Amino acid sequence: MEADLGRVDLEEILARLERGEVSLSKLEEVLGNANLAVLARRRFLERKLNISLSGIASTILDFEELYGHNIENAIGAVQVPVGIAGPLRVNGDYAKGDFYVPLATTEGALVASVNRGAKAVTASGGAHVKVLKDGMTRAPLIWTPSVVEAVRFVEWVKANMEVLKGKVSEVTRHGRLLDLQPFIVGNLVWLRFIYSTGDAMGMNMATIASDRICSYIEQSYDGEARCISLSGNMCTDKKPAIINRLLGRGKYVVAEALIPASVAESVLKARIDLIHYINQAKNLLGSGVAGSVSFNAHYANIIAAIFIATGQDVAQVVESSMGFTWTELREDNLYISVTLPSLEVGTVGGGTRLRTQREALAIMGVAGGGDPPGVNALKFAEIVAATVLAGELNLLAALASGHLARAHEKLGRGKVRGARTRT
Ligand code: NAP
Repeated sequence: MEADLGRVDLEEILARLERGEVSLSKLEEVLGNANLAVLARRRFLERKLNISLSGIASTILDFEELYGHNIENAIGAVQVPVGIAGPLRVNGDYAKGDFYVPLATTEGALVASVNRGAKAVTASGGAHVKVLKDGMTRAPLIWTPSVVEAVRFVEWVKANMEVLKGKVSEVTRHGRLLDLQPFIVGNLVWLRFIYSTGDAMGMNMATIASDRICSYIEQSYDGEARCISLSGNMCTDKKPAIINRLLGRGKYVVAEALIPASVAESVLKARIDLIHYINQAKNLLGSGVAGSVSFNAHYANIIAAIFIATGQDVAQVVESSMGFTWTELREDNLYISVTLPSLEVGTVGGGTRLRTQREALAIMGVAGGGDPPGVNALKFAEIVAATVLAGELNLLAALASGHLARAHEKLGRGKVRGARTRT
């Protein structure tokens, strides 16, 4: 969106920027318009670096809508191509039917891979999906003088949970305090609070609610307890962590399917016993030998592509893509499941408010708040897990049949018919 300069003298603004009289980060305040600020900042950079940013300038974004919500010091936007995988049949508690799933990526072969997996899953009757747990966590770190005081403090917090729930409802309509997982190390206490957050991924909500709780605790506890960090890393946000893998964070989701050997052979060109063997040797043994926290082939590929397309917090791919792929041979069928203990997704808040991201959510019928609140995010989580299942199945099949390198050469190195190759 090109800004209307109106009566603003761009040359004058650029000269003031160059003289250091105005700082780049204050342009919104100085100009009173976020789109103008973006234009001026970009022009300043173009001159200073002697480059063109006409690609970054080309966007439908209205920075007036984004300012104060999504970005600071904006200069434009980068674009990521979006492909579609599907139809993918999902038999969940919230997602029921055939879905098309938007995937934003620059990795050639990824969409094709998920698409072929979706075809096999759908031809096998679809993915069955269950969300086993749902709760966003924040774990403030509390200092007490001794383990004796730490234990007394935790008992006090547990006894006051109903009061704390009331404090949370003062700062959010959709967020609810569900539970507490306390941890003590020496004299320190982590209060890992679990919240239901409606259709929001919930990280701001849980942080604001935990801040409110900490203020109340510091005012009301009759002993010595100080919140020394609102996040104590036991939450755990944007870091790979076994606590999330075991106890869950966001949505704990399992998707499964029973793939007949005939479908594996006709759609995936692979034998089910080989898919099963590759899963054991690669995903389970290989990950174990490597000391991985994640026992899967490429959840991160699918999670990242869906997160980018739909405005999720991309840094949360770290924990959202932890999980286990499990297979069993059952007569002439392959049982395959994916378990994602820490899938952090939302359909309101964060980047979901951007137009293109909202449209991507609309493709799956999950844009915005659900009725009742929370059902859209649950439906979305089920679709994401089913898509991960499709991607995982296809990659294992490609490895089992030796197709992986060939597919990447064809679809990632421009060797498909009609593709232009640039170096
Ligand atoms: P948010 O946009 O901060 O909060 C969601 C908002 O939507 C709330 O104001 C909520 O109102 C409202 N809302 C309306 N309908 C809703 C519905 N059906 N369900 C739930 N809420 C509804 O989003 P968030 O998910 O809490 O936070 C996401 C953002 O946090 C992302 O931008 C992410 O990058 C960022 N983030 C923050 C931290 C942090 O430490 N603060 C860490 C990681 C990521 P009520 O609150 O009144 O219910």
